[in-house]
Amino acid sequence: MQESWRDEVSLLPEELKEILDITAKHNRWRKYETINLIASENTMSPLATSAYMSDMMHRYAEGKPFKRYYQGTRYVDEIEVRVMKLMGELLRADYVDPRPISGTTANASVFRVLGKCGSKAVIAPVQAGAHVSHTKFGTLGALCIEHIEMPYDPDQMNIDVDHAVKLIEEVKPSFVVLGASVYLFPHPVREIADAAHSVNAKLVYDAAHVLGLITGKRWRNPLDHGADLLTASTHKTFPGPQGGIIATRDGQLYKPISRAVFPYFVSNHHLHRLPALAVTAVEMKHFGEAYADQIVRNARALAEALAAEGFKVLGEHLGYTRSHQVVLDVRKQGGGAKAAQLLEEANIIVNKNLLPYDPPDAIKDPSGLRLGVQEMTRYGMKEDNMKDIARFMRRVLIDGEDPRKIAEEVKAYRREYTKVHYCFDVNTLEDGKLYLLY
Ligand SMILES: *Cc1c(COP(=O)(O)O)cnc(C)c1O
Repeated sequence: MQESWRDEVSLLPEELKEILDITAKHNRWRKYETINLIASENTMSPLATSAYMSDMMHRYAEGKPFKRYYQGTRYVDEIEVRVMKLMGELLRADYVDPRPISGTTANASVFRVLGKCGSKAVIAPVQAGAHVSHTKFGTLGALCIEHIEMPYDPDQMNIDVDHAVKLIEEVKPSFVVLGASVYLFPHPVREIADAAHSVNAKLVYDAAHVLGLITGKRWRNPLDHGADLLTASTHKTFPGPQGGIIATRDGQLYKPISRAVFPYFVSNHHLHRLPALAVTAVEMKHFGEAYADQIVRNARALAEALAAEGFKVLGEHLGYTRSHQVVLDVRKQGGGAKAAQLLEEANIIVNKNLLPYDPPDAIKDPSGLRLGVQEMTRYGMKEDNMKDIARFMRRVLIDGEDPRKIAEEVKAYRREYTKVHYCFDVNTLEDGKLYLLY
């Protein structure tokens, strides 16, 4: 079948063939041949992918369901309402806005309403993993809201709670932001929420990385512990389409925020995300707890295995990790930039990362690597696989074996793990049944 496809392709203009060929190469490499440990990525189920490829990707639906500025949206309206209901059930939140097209857009909509130009926001310290959108270099900067970092406790690799509470009481910010991109240990929500509320500030919990751990009940739901708003990406530990979401239990807050999403930050909201997100939400209702449980087990297993292979793994005295992530200090192995490059040559995909003790200007060659196990877990890997991954990494980074040789082994290893787990097992693309959808 593939050969006849190639014959037809051979009749196409050269530049078109090249485009298709590059895309096919990407798909083959990243979907079937590599071990992906990028902590912010995941993969949709075949069913969600099939639902994603709908005509909705061509449409507009400005406004809210059943109150649109366009005609032709009756089914979009129905699906969007279902997404709001399903995500609301998973997060036990009455008010959900799924229209932000990314976590950053969700943050922008929330920050725009809670602050104005010149107001102050207190954020988690950058060493504790705060995202660029929480800072003056990102979304807060674009909104000219000043950011003030909470103090950091290096021993706990977390926010220094006592000093953070004092800081919030002194600064009296408009809002406080928790949640992070390098995120091994949960931020202290209750204490920070109480401090924020004592000075009439709102608490935003950015769950971009850990949404799937929260909906899978392995991490506490910040809305149960005082957070006023939750923002997130829908494609990291939550394995949906790339996109963003806002959830709250406060109807008064929800109103102005959903009025900021549109028209401030989206016009079309990439409508084809909605059926795929709804499918993923149903999958997570059924399989989300088992999935989150295995993610957390695998992360711990990978950390322990890497330490046993001779790597310096951060957070040893704290049990290494409670999330999907593992963080390595690879200064001995030549630094983050070199290590990430060598691993890529070996078909193991990771990203270099600043460590809590790195100066901010070390960003091009930081000391660390950030690893996430959520995608390989979704492809069915368990604790024993984590030991194998740690061994591959040792051979590349410590033993100095030729990464191209390891790449071939990784390719063969990955062949056994190409089926998506924690979803309904329907033969979608093979028998074409779901092509009926579009
Ligand atoms: C990834 C991330 C985001 C935003 O991600 P998008 O790519 O815009 O969806 C926001 N906050 C945190 C903490 C993140 O890690």
